This record gives sequence, structure tokens and C-alpha cells, in this order.
Amino acid sequence: MTERQLAFETLQIHAGTAADPATGARQVPIYQTTAYVFRDADHAAKLFNLQEIGYIYSRLTNPTVSALANRVCALEGGAGAICCSSGHAAQIMALFPLMGPGKNIIASTRLYGGTMTQFSQTIKRFGWSAKFVDFDDLAALEAAVDDDTRAIFCESIANPGGYITDLDAVAGVADKVGLPLIVDNTSATPYLCRPIEHGATLVVHSATKYLTGNGTVTGGIVVDSGKFDWSKSGKFPSLSEPEPAYHGLAFHPALGAMAFTFHSIAVGLRDLGMTMNPQGAHYTLMGIETLSLRMDRHVENARKVAEWLEKDPRIDYVTYAGLPSSPYHHRVARICPKGAGALFTFAVKGGYDACVKLIDNVKLFSHVANLGDTRSLIIHSASTTHRQLTEEQQIKAGAAPNVVRVSIGIEHADDIIADLDQALAAATA
Ligand SMILES: *Cc1c(COP(=O)(O)O)cnc(C)c1O
Repeated sequence: MTERQLAFETLQIHAGTAADPATGARQVPIYQTTAYVFRDADHAAKLFNLQEIGYIYSRLTNPTVSALANRVCALEGGAGAICCSSGHAAQIMALFPLMGPGKNIIASTRLYGGTMTQFSQTIKRFGWSAKFVDFDDLAALEAAVDDDTRAIFCESIANPGGYITDLDAVAGVADKVGLPLIVDNTSATPYLCRPIEHGATLVVHSATKYLTGNGTVTGGIVVDSGKFDWSKSGKFPSLSEPEPAYHGLAFHPALGAMAFTFHSIAVGLRDLGMTMNPQGAHYTLMGIETLSLRMDRHVENARKVAEWLEKDPRIDYVTYAGLPSSPYHHRVARICPKGAGALFTFAVKGGYDACVKLIDNVKLFSHVANLGDTRSLIIHSASTTHRQLTEEQQIKAGAAPNVVRVSIGIEHADDIIADLDQALAAATA
């Protein structure tokens, strides 16, 4: 008998967890411990040799954190996953085994503002660099790849403005040039989009956002599809050749589909230490239990708010891919069939000044640098998250000075619309 394939709604509650073997506790306990007692000297040696899987020290693995990694891995359809201290840590952890001094990545121009800064500035300190390309221009994407390129990076539903990446097409280019595709699936979540099914090698998340869902945690996750052949091109020696940082273990030859995951724990978490804490993992596990219910409501509200805004004479345009007027609307059914997310931008007539007034007059919306909360959130990207960029970069990133970004929550849609209505009245008076 073949095992019945459980639905997403069931997996979000059960995957990666069972009743606690020690106590029978039904909910995943918070294992608030740093270290784990070895049975004997031989057991300890086997754990350190990766000959037996078990817990050593919570910088590497912890039962609560592992439960979360296994659950998100199941929801994304991956082979293995690693939890990290933040979404930004997850991005570094995803790149770490692939990169080296002098190596580069090709990244989409449409990214979260913080990722733009991480990739355009901070990674240079490691000798890494990024080339930014419009991922709708597949020829330009392919042309940007050189001998030192080690990965292609994009977001599924991209920040800040209602853009959907054609993952199948981008994965086609990645395949052709023999490189891994890394997809940041934060804004979509695995409920709306499953990047591995579209050819992604690695999926990264900021668990800070929809996965936890209520703005209580900073966390990140990397999921590996287990499908990339790290040995074929000779470009990924940390994975394909004896790793000097782990007494000469050749991870891919020895561990196959689990090579990336084990390298990320045994070398990445061990030496970079970007570990998620068990308390944070517990909150995220709680959040994920209701992910599908929340995302359905986020999407329904976002569509109603976007439709209302689009008809309003005070608004220039709305960039929500769920609207038929969006140039990316035709990608929704294929890339994120359950909806285009709840993150979009709109341009206010009256430009920068009207945007600032709008932000200062909202009452229900919170003016915060966050997204993916149960609460509706608003921010003027050009004066905050995208402030470090030039105006040209801001426009390219969908964060022009006359644009505000909203993350639509799960309140009643009528209340969300009423708040925007009164704030727009004050802003354009
Ligand atoms: C928030 C966010 C990040 C960074 O995550 P942190 O948890 O804040 O470090 C990366 N990518 C996207 C799309 C995000 O929304």
C-alpha cells in the first residue's frame, strides 16, 4: 500500500513532530537546553563523526528547532532544512557553502531593501559580490553569468511591489548554465508558492514574517531541494571535495541529497553561529499551524483593498499582481495559484509629501518596517527601507518616492479600507 500523501493543511500541523517521546507532551516542548548528555564515549565520538545523528550542542541542533526545520522542509517539499537566527542569516547560510573570495551571484533587481544592501555592500567584505539584473530579461540574466558565478537569487513574490518572478523561466536559465537557483519565498510562503516545484535548488525564508505571522520572532530558514549535483562542475569544492573545516569529509560524495543540510549544520552553524533559539522556533511552529487559514484571509483582504484603491481618484496606480491590470497577473495561476500574496504598493497623487502625510494619518495601520503580520502595516519605502538607494535604484526596486507599501493584515477588509480612506482624505486635502 502506498502511503497517503497528506495535504498542506494537515502537514502544517503535524509534519516534523510527534508526541514527545520522554513525556508524551502533545505540543512540541521548548527544549531550553544548551547541551545533551552522551550515552558514553563511543556515542559522543559517533555523533562528532556524523556516523550517528543526535544532539550535541544547541548552536548546531536542538529538538525544538529541528521540529521547525522538518516542518518547513515538508511544506516546501525539500530534502533538508536549517533554521537560522534571521532571514538575513538564512541568506548568508544559503550562500556560504557555495561561495568563496572572488565569487559572485546574479540577483534580481526586485528584492527586499535589506537584501539589496546585504548583497550590494556587506558581502563584499567576504570577497563576494552580486550583479543585479532584471529577471524578466532572460538573455541579460544569462549574459551576466561568468566563470566565477556560483548562484542565481530572486524572490518568488518580490518586495516591495506586487511582482511575481517567472520561476520556471529563471530556473531554465540556471539549469542551462549549471548553477543553483536560490528563491526567497518569504512573501509567498509555501502555501502560495512552492519554488522547488518550479526548479529552485534552495529556498530561503524570513520566518519573522508570515510563517510566525504575528510579529513576535526574528528567524530564518534555508530549505534544500536535495536535487542539485554539487560535484558535477567542480565549482562547489566545499561540498564536493574533502572539507578541511570538517576533518576532510567530502559532504556530497558521502551524504548525497543531504550534503548541503549537513554542511550547513556541521560547518555553517558550528562556525558562523547564526542559530535560531528554541523559544523562537516554538513561536514559529505555533504560527505555522494556522498558515493556510491566515494566508487565505491575507489574500482575500489584499484583493479587496487593491480593487478599492485602484478605483480611487486619489491614487495613480496599484501594483498588486492579483489585479487583472497588473502586467504580472498572468503569472499568478502558474507560480502562486492560491493567490498573489498581501504585499503591494500604490502611488499617491501628490507624491512624496502626500505619502508622508498618509503615513502620519493612519490609525488602524501600523507604521513599521515589517511585513507579514496579522495586523495591517504600512511604510513609505523611499524614506525608510529603501533610503540607502539612489532614486534610480528606488524606482527600479519598485520603491519610487510617490509610492507606499502595504502589508494587508487579517482584520475585516471594511475596517482596513475605511482607515486608508480617512488617511488619504487627510493626505490629499
Ligand atoms: C524580512 C525579509 C528578509 C530579512 O529577514 P529578517 O528576518 O528580517 O532578517 C529577507 N527577505 C525578505 C523578502 C523579507 O521580507
